[in-house]
Amino acid sequence: MSKVRTRFAPSPTGRMHVGNLRSALYEFLIAKHAGGDFMLRIEDTDQERFVEGAVDIIYHTLEETGLVHDEGPDKDGGYGPYVQSERMKTGIYMKYAKELVEKGEAYYCFCDKERLESLKTEVDGKEIMMYDKHCLHLSKEEVEANLAAGKPFVIRQNIPNEGTTTFHDELYGDITVDNAELDDMILIKSDGYPTYNFANVVDDHTMNITHVVRGNEYLSSSPKYQRLYDAFGWESPVYIHLPLITDENHKKLSKRSGHSSFEDLLEQGFLSEAVVNYISLLGWSPEDNREIFTLDELIKEFDYHRISKSPAVFDYTKLKWMNGEY
Ligand code: GLU
Ligand code: ZN
Repeated sequence: MSKVRTRFAPSPTGRMHVGNLRSALYEFLIAKHAGGDFMLRIEDTDQERFVEGAVDIIYHTLEETGLVHDEGPDKDGGYGPYVQSERMKTGIYMKYAKELVEKGEAYYCFCDKERLESLKTEVDGKEIMMYDKHCLHLSKEEVEANLAAGKPFVIRQNIPNEGTTTFHDELYGDITVDNAELDDMILIKSDGYPTYNFANVVDDHTMNITHVVRGNEYLSSSPKYQRLYDAFGWESPVYIHLPLITDENHKKLSKRSGHSSFEDLLEQGFLSEAVVNYISLLGWSPEDNREIFTLDELIKEFDYHRISKSPAVFDYTKLKWMNGEY
C-alpha cells in the first residue's frame, strides 16, 4: 500500500467549529498512526463565503492543538499550506476542466441568467434547477466562435442520464444514485474560479491524498465527487464521513450553544489538551475503556476502523471534568 496521506481542508468562513476540529484531528491521527503525512489545504475559492481573519484562526487553532502539517508547496520558505486561491494562479483547475472537455466529459455552457431562470421548477416546495444540456449540443465551431467573441461561460460536467453512480464510504458502505438525479454541475464558474467540489477533487488527486475525513453533511453530494473521479479515470481516496455532533437536546451543535467553536472553549478557560482529548472521543473509542489521552497516546491508539456512525453528543460537563484532570 502507498504511504498514507491525509489533509485538513477548511474553508475560511469563521471560527473553528468543534466538528471541523474533529475532522482535522482524525485526519492528523490517521496519518501519524500510519507513519504518513498530514497536509493543510485552505479552500478559499468561494469569494462570497470568505471571512477576513478566518485563515489566521485556522493556523492558530492547529498550532495550539499541536496538529502540525507536514508539507506545502512553498519549498524554500518551509512548510506553507496549500492555498487554493494561490494554486488557481497556476491554471491547474482550468487545465483539468479542459482535459474533461477534450474527453467529452464536460462542456462549455453559455446560457444566460434568463435562460437558466426558465429551467427552474418547484419540487416539494423547493426550487430546483436541472440543467437541460442545451449547450452540450453546440458544435465545435459555435463554441469557438462564442469564446472568440468573449461570451461569458461556465464549464459543466456532462453526466449521462442513464445508469447509476456508486460511491463508497467506510462507515456508510455503498451509496448508489440514478445518474438522472445528478445535475450537470458547474466545474468552472463564470469568474474563472473553480467550484468548491471541483477544486476539492482535483486537489485531493494531485496531492495524492489517500484518506478523506469530513462531516456527514457532505455525504449527499458524494456521488458527484465519484462522478468526477470516474470522468478522469482516477482512483478515489478512502472516504470517512463522520457522524453529526449534537448538543444535549440531540440538536446539531450550533453557535447558540455558546461552546460550538474552539475559540469559545478557550475563552471559557479550557486547556487545548483537554479539548483535543475530549474531541477525539466524539465518534471514536479506544479498544479499552481509557478516556484520558495525550496527543502522542492518541497517535498510538487511533484506529479509524473504530469510528462509529452514531451521532456524538457534546457533553459539556464531561469536558469540564477532563479539563480538571490536567
Ligand atoms: N472545505 C470543506 C469544509 O470546510 C472541506 C470538505 C472536505 O474536507 O472535503 O467543510
Ligand atoms: Zn448552456
